[in-house]
Amino acid sequence: MSYTHPYKDAEFILRHLVNLDALGASAGLDEINTDLAMAVLEEAGKLGSDVLAPLNWSGDQDGVTLDTNGVQEAPGFKEAYQQFAEGGWVSLTADEEFGGQGLPNALSTAVTEIWHSANMSFALCPMLSQGAIESLKHHGSAELQNAYLPKLIAGEWTGTMNLTEPDAGTDLVAIKTKAEPEGDHYLISGQKIFITWGDHQMAENIIHLVLARLPDAPAGVKGISLFIVPKFKLNADGEPGERNHAHCISVEHKMGIHASPTCVMEFENAEGYLVGEAHNGLACMFTMMNHARQAVGLQGLSISERAYQQAAAFAKERLQGTRRDGSRIPIIQHPDVRRMLMVMKSANEAMRALALTSAAEIDRANYATDPEQKAAHARRVDLYTPIIKGWLTEMAQELTSLGVQVHGGMGFIEETGAAQHYRDARILPIYEGTNGIQALDFIGRKMLANQGEVLEALLNDIQLTLDKMAQTEGLSVSPQCYLIEALGAARDAKAFVLEQAATDKNLPGSVSYNFMMLFGYLTGGWMMVESAIQAQQLLNAGEGDADFLRAKLMTSQFYCEHLLPRTQACLAAVLAGNSTIMAMPEEQF
Ligand SMILES: Cc1cc2nc3c(=O)[nH]c(=O)nc-3n(C[C@H](O)[C@H](O)[C@H](O)COP(=O)(O)OP(=O)(O)OC[C@H]3O[C@@H](n4cnc5c(N)ncnc54)[C@H](O)[C@@H]3O)c2cc1C
Repeated sequence: MSYTHPYKDAEFILRHLVNLDALGASAGLDEINTDLAMAVLEEAGKLGSDVLAPLNWSGDQDGVTLDTNGVQEAPGFKEAYQQFAEGGWVSLTADEEFGGQGLPNALSTAVTEIWHSANMSFALCPMLSQGAIESLKHHGSAELQNAYLPKLIAGEWTGTMNLTEPDAGTDLVAIKTKAEPEGDHYLISGQKIFITWGDHQMAENIIHLVLARLPDAPAGVKGISLFIVPKFKLNADGEPGERNHAHCISVEHKMGIHASPTCVMEFENAEGYLVGEAHNGLACMFTMMNHARQAVGLQGLSISERAYQQAAAFAKERLQGTRRDGSRIPIIQHPDVRRMLMVMKSANEAMRALALTSAAEIDRANYATDPEQKAAHARRVDLYTPIIKGWLTEMAQELTSLGVQVHGGMGFIEETGAAQHYRDARILPIYEGTNGIQALDFIGRKMLANQGEVLEALLNDIQLTLDKMAQTEGLSVSPQCYLIEALGAARDAKAFVLEQAATDKNLPGSVSYNFMMLFGYLTGGWMMVESAIQAQQLLNAGEGDADFLRAKLMTSQFYCEHLLPRTQACLAAVLAGNSTIMAMPEEQF
């Protein structure tokens, strides 16, 4: 159950698709380039393979416990976290002003894939810290930033996100947690559930970001405010002091991610501080959630990569079937097993390319000086976010399931570890906004709200790739054909939704899932065709690792022939509209 990062693929994508060297140069950051990224990735890979990956299975088996001192994490996790924090891995993208390294998101996303592949339960902890850092950076007062950012960025303290309550899951309007003003701070009271890494002993302090209502709060979304509630209040010297009244009162028993404590948190007049403006908490929290949504999408890729590596290794060793000469056949030589491995490998490559491309758009939006360009990149990031969260995590269900299937009966037996990936992956379409909500966001806020203009810009970029492909000598034509058809499906779906949504209020919600999935498969295909173009150009020029590049052409072609046609099925479901979805009386269910 070892794990080795696919460095060559990451390098190919960073160098030729993301164009990290040009990205760094455009921001005046000449030291940021693919060579630097590869050096960082190799360091991260050592920690991932040697320290975090071996704790993945033991963490699953040991889980976490709650005693009178709070949550005790799985054995080995505290020491691993110390190494992680001391290595500076929390601080990659954080502001240099507060001790961060100011590196681009594209680089940190490539690194973060490693953490989630090696040990997703572990990696959730720094992932939430990074979300808290983002939120404080954008919305916290200078005083709060100075007090909390350096320690969070150094990894000495960790962060959490406290939204969910028993009656308020998707519907955050129903939040009941209260915040009463008291001198220079607020007293927070209420219960939050499902809080990831809500308590542990790995760090000196835990910084909870909590959504709550002020006494004069207007009803609805506009009445929610964001507070920072530390586990230990800060002394005058800024160090953790008196225990705050924020406690974990139980931990959930879950289907997967057993080593990530999922806590019920009780706040009883806990001291908290307002982040951003009163009643504007949801907007502040969205900064954290948008970060987390892309990160959860990345988890989908990471866990699928881990499942693929394990399945491929098993398929080379497991012998089933006998040749005429009596020798036995490794199952990797059976076409149906190859099909499964090719689905896994090609989808992983497409997802990696999309995740890194999207992360680079965040950087382009940050670095751009021209306001129009900045806005265009930001719009593209907004468009990608639900696709990354929704499509990558849906794919993870299929790919980790294929990982089990390649193992045959042994896949169903826990000790192989294939089942763990499948169980761990199951949370991904649920948290950080269910995929139903991602699909609604995609079709509503990201498409209908601007009459499809932002989506049209994406489709035009895909068309440019098709034009480029036609001019690339030596490329097989079939990927191009499939991408042309998929692009046509996307345009038809978009036109249908724009027309029908005007008169049918149930239409967007009825077709949103298939609409989002269509764009997931399409953008994945776009990435694979771009990859094929780059690979062929390198081969034509006699540059690069020829074996890797030829394999890339094959995964690209496989993706286009086997996964891109799924856009047609998505289109058919979109065009079927709402007729059967809402028609049946409730009593028939
Ligand atoms: C392991 C784990 C870790 C978590 N970590 C955190 C955390 O750190 N912090 C935190 O705050 N929360 C956390 N959560 C909570 C998680 O974000 C919620 O479970 C999730 O948002 C869904 O809310 P819910 O469970 O109440 O489901 P519900 O909102 O009850 O949804 C049930 C179903 O109805 C659908 N649905 C609901 N409303 C609509 C709608 N308007 N339109 C269409 N479909 C709808 C949903 O898509 C879903 O399929 C975690 C949950 C788990 C299980």
